[in-house]
Amino acid sequence: MTDEKTLREQMVDICRRMNTSGINQGTSGNLSVRHGDGFLITPSSRPYETMQPEDLVSMAFDGTYDGLRPSSEWRFHRDILRARPDVDVVLHCHSLYATTLACHHRSIPSFHYMTGIAGGTDIRCAGYATFGTAELSEEAVKALKDRMACLLGQHGQISLGKNLEGALWLAIEVEALARMYLQALTIGEPPVLSDEEMAKVIGQMQRMSYGQAPDGDGVGDLARPRSA
Ligand code: 13P
Ligand code: ZN
Repeated sequence: MTDEKTLREQMVDICRRMNTSGINQGTSGNLSVRHGDGFLITPSSRPYETMQPEDLVSMAFDGTYDGLRPSSEWRFHRDILRARPDVDVVLHCHSLYATTLACHHRSIPSFHYMTGIAGGTDIRCAGYATFGTAELSEEAVKALKDRMACLLGQHGQISLGKNLEGALWLAIEVEALARMYLQALTIGEPPVLSDEEMAKVIGQMQRMSYGQAPDGDGVGDLARPRSA
């Protein structure tokens, strides 16, 4: 397990990259990582440019914490980490295009094969609920069932990861997909790939650990490094 000091430094790096990659702005967005018996989470309303590793808040699953006031969204971070033992990272942001779709409560369908990176044939949009509430958390957990990402109605997006890099990668991909979908919609509703084709795509992505593990096994029968 990564030691806490390193994890805190990595979290600050990911937060700053949320801003420099263009998927987040101002003091919106938050990030959590499972650690020990609980998790580390960003403090509420702190600009990432000046946030320091020691500002990250250590929280237990019962909602108790040490240090600065945790993100107002600690409930959905806690509830997702509790409901999803398959992930260790929860990243939330108000990226422009994903949020534009979420303002219309539009899910992202399989108009493009990359929709499969979230684990299914669509990236659902969760129902609206006031930020920071247990109701919003309930909606988010529901929309994330069997998925690694969702949109949040009239709010933003959530991307999950087995690690920090994976969660940031996915959030950027979700934003790119949302942008493509909005662009495609300008000349009408685009066709969607069939469930059979999406099952093939998702199977291929899983075999390749697509996007999540650049040094993983890959698809051995298609390509392998010369040195192997
Ligand atoms: P926090 O600064 O409290 O994390 O809130 C930002 C946000 O995006 C609320 O949904
Ligand atoms: Zn938010």
